[in-house]
Amino acid sequence: MATKGDYKIIDHTYDVVVVGAGGAGLRATLGLSMAGLKAACVTKVFPTRSHTVAAQGGIGASLGNMSEDKWQWHMYDTVKGSDWLGDQDAIEYLCKNATTAVYELEHFGVPFSRTEEGKIYQRPFGGHTQNYGESMAHRACAAADRTGHAILHTLYQQCLKHKAQFFIEHFAMDLIMDDEGACVGVMTWDLETGEIHRFNSRHVILATGGCGRVFFSCTSAHTCTGDGNAMALRAGLPLQDMEFIQFHPTGIYGSGCLITEGVRGEGGYLTNSEGERFMERYAPSAKDLASRDVVSRAMTVEVREGRGIGKEKDHINLHLEHLDPDVIHKRLPGISETAKIFAGVDVTKEPIPVIPTVHYNMGGVPTNYQGEVLRPKKGKEDEVCPGLFAAGEAASASVHGANRLGTNSLIDLVVFGRATALRAAELIEKEGEHVKPLPKNAGEEAIARLDKMRHAKGKLKTGEIRLEMQKTMQSNCAVFRTKDLLAEGVKKIETVSKKMSSIGISDRSMIWNTDLVEALELDNLMAQAQVTIASANARQESRGAHAHEDYPDRDDKKWMKHTLAYNDGKAKGSVKLGYRKVHTYTLTDEVEYIKPKKRVY
Ligand SMILES: Cc1cc2nc3c(=O)[nH]c(=O)nc-3n(C[C@H](O)[C@H](O)[C@H](O)COP(=O)(O)OP(=O)(O)OC[C@H]3O[C@@H](n4cnc5c(N)ncnc54)[C@H](O)[C@@H]3O)c2cc1C
Repeated sequence: MATKGDYKIIDHTYDVVVVGAGGAGLRATLGLSMAGLKAACVTKVFPTRSHTVAAQGGIGASLGNMSEDKWQWHMYDTVKGSDWLGDQDAIEYLCKNATTAVYELEHFGVPFSRTEEGKIYQRPFGGHTQNYGESMAHRACAAADRTGHAILHTLYQQCLKHKAQFFIEHFAMDLIMDDEGACVGVMTWDLETGEIHRFNSRHVILATGGCGRVFFSCTSAHTCTGDGNAMALRAGLPLQDMEFIQFHPTGIYGSGCLITEGVRGEGGYLTNSEGERFMERYAPSAKDLASRDVVSRAMTVEVREGRGIGKEKDHINLHLEHLDPDVIHKRLPGISETAKIFAGVDVTKEPIPVIPTVHYNMGGVPTNYQGEVLRPKKGKEDEVCPGLFAAGEAASASVHGANRLGTNSLIDLVVFGRATALRAAELIEKEGEHVKPLPKNAGEEAIARLDKMRHAKGKLKTGEIRLEMQKTMQSNCAVFRTKDLLAEGVKKIETVSKKMSSIGISDRSMIWNTDLVEALELDNLMAQAQVTIASANARQESRGAHAHEDYPDRDDKKWMKHTLAYNDGKAKGSVKLGYRKVHTYTLTDEVEYIKPKKRVY
């Protein structure tokens, strides 16, 4: 065992280290273990506490169990949902492999809800259609309204069965990069023992989830701080399309807890203070099941124009009291409980007060369709960063583009979690098992960062700085954006980020020091808030979730490109922006490139 100051360092060598044990991380870990590789999965929370556990409504795949369906239709809907910012080769890969991935989950043991004939139950979800927009498809495979819970537990059990190795309650701090810019490992802190672990591996897979906690009100867990994204930034890699933040139409007013879109899939609908089903005006054919960005904007307009509900006229009603109580009991038991606890509402008798709430990050670490992280350079936009993969919400493959369709994240986790494992195994097979040695002083920077934070003696508490950042993002980078709001936001976030140098940590211990963990997480969040608002400020158009009032139209000529934002914390003035072409080709000739057109529902 090595030491550095009062830090004990434990060294490991693995073929692959997966950081994260949500749906993406576990599916990757399982694939690696099944391929006989020596793989480790590092996670800051117990695997089954990852945010995937909270996913409710379903996982998208064109099984066609309840009505006719085709993967080509799923692909069309996903491209349209992405507002033509998604990479079509990756979307093809996702939709084509979705059905196999769901059957695989079924065989692993996921307890899906069933139709009367015993097939996997599927419900309608926003933006999912039959025959290129003609009618609503039944594509969301569901285990009641606890689909993520069922998937996460099953994947964890499968990992244990295949003897995968876990490092639980280990906080990953930084990637280890060598002189050629390849990733050769990762540094972690064991929260239980206080020891530092230095992993040397052929490949690292980032599956650390989203960064919803950049905002004040979000549906995601407190652990969704995008640590992997920030690790990539510090390693000099860019984050892609971070300006595209999904607001879910139905977060419970006040608490932000999610009420699944599956509610509207089962027949629920929204009304304003006049009792009007206003979605009929905004999306005449899909109505309440239009894409999420469309519904969230419609709700925001209703509130702004004075037709909101409640004393402050600032929210909207979601009705399901007209549904058969049996359907509610069988298909939506979880949300009935959530509505009771967080809104005090009996859903069989009264509507749920809801408001658009931050829900998902379309952006993340850019990858190709095999999950390999891109290190774009002039003229070589798709150059791969050796040794590094990303999957799940941390990644931007990019299948969701400017707006993700409901159910398309869970399927993304398993399809791309699997893809990273397959590709890593293929590379190891081709290139041999030799692990590139660690560079001299590997991990010292990470320890120095940790040590500096641990001994920070400033006057400000982590929570104070975090709140200021979250409130700024909530007011300056929300559902509707303007030139002035964004420009002001960039400045405000810059000011808040400077407060990090005045942070104070009350506890110097290395064991279960939650104060220190939260400060490191805040540091990660701050880097992402900066790139998010800078990316949004630069994009002068409206596309998907980025609704810019000064540029209300989509501008394919200038802006059909991915934003790349760099923020390694070393240069002054922090964020640097670049762009990458959207992939306008498919992988096979089974489908053609879907040309951009106006996006109406
Ligand atoms: C309430 C809710 C409901 C949803 N419902 C649906 C749905 O019905 N259908 C759908 O398709 N999508 C849904 N989504 C979206 C989807 O659930 C998420 O996008 C997805 O689960 C993210 O999975 P992940 O594997 O990428 O990350 P997560 O499940 O968030 O897991 C992240 C993992 O990374 C680990 N980690 C993070 N940082 C570190 C670190 N520094 N060191 C070590 N480990 C770290 C964590 O411990 C965790 O294991 C929902 C999301 C929410 C919030």
